[in-house]
Amino acid sequence: MIVCRTIPELRTAIRNGKAPLLANESTVGFVPTMGFLHEGHASLMRQSAEENGLSVLSIFVNPLQFGPNEDFERYPRNEERDLAIAEQNGIDIVFIPSVEVMYPTKPLTKVLVDQVTARLCGASRPGHFDGVGTVVSKLFHLVQPDRAYFGMKDAQQVAVIQQMTDDLNFPVSIIPCPIVREPDGLALSSRNVYLSAEQRSQAVVLSQSLKQAEKWVKETDITAAELVARVKAMIGEAQLADIDYVEWLQYPSLQATEPEAPINTASECYILALAVKFGSTRLIDNHLFGTFGG
Ligand code: AMP
Repeated sequence: MIVCRTIPELRTAIRNGKAPLLANESTVGFVPTMGFLHEGHASLMRQSAEENGLSVLSIFVNPLQFGPNEDFERYPRNEERDLAIAEQNGIDIVFIPSVEVMYPTKPLTKVLVDQVTARLCGASRPGHFDGVGTVVSKLFHLVQPDRAYFGMKDAQQVAVIQQMTDDLNFPVSIIPCPIVREPDGLALSSRNVYLSAEQRSQAVVLSQSLKQAEKWVKETDITAAELVARVKAMIGEAQLADIDYVEWLQYPSLQATEPEAPINTASECYILALAVKFGSTRLIDNHLFGTFGG
């Protein structure tokens, strides 16, 4: 595994790594992350390693996607552990740039994606997806992958990146990967380390409410408004939970649905998306209803 910290190093490593692949028409897979890797990231890395001749991982805590009062400074970091996990999961090249390498001067160019960024995290974290679109564009140009792997834990991010890729004709396939969860259902996240024991035990309400919502949708003629109200009530029973949003939207367009119409998942795909704060830690989770990409 080659570790690159500068753009020339990365370009050389990719060129050299690709050369032997060209003969057998193999491909480059790419997994962008912010590090502090866990099994969710590892599942993306393994899928990339299985499907491509060369797998590239990036680890970069991107300041552009954090708001002024968010956790950029204290975002957890552990490079040594991350490199071991990358190596164990089939990564060939790791790109770990500093902020100065990625943004030697203040970037005056941004990649903004409209509409799909209007709600959910786009609404509660202004500017977040501008930072994501900008950094992922740069990384796509640097790595030039054939496939890029993104977790459905960040379902809005998948929709935004797919839209950006289509609009700007990036020659890459976006591969959405399933959410990896703890045994009790909590979606794995680098931010879970911030939780106190009590917050951690109450945080299970996110995945529990999604499971319960699945039952309500399957077993009753429930409306979107009623479903959202019930999910909010269920999460509200956890004393330490502070709801940021609970929304039922079409997926991947992330447009609103008719709130009073009974939910029908037969022909359309929908998302039930949650963001809930426990103290200063903001957790997200979601479940898709209907067929996505089918
Ligand atoms: P992050 O380091 O949080 O920016 O995440 C990097 C990538 O890993 C993103 O595509 C995430 O959606 C994905 N990811 C994070 N947590 C999980 C999880 N629990 N299951 C699947 N993918 C995940």
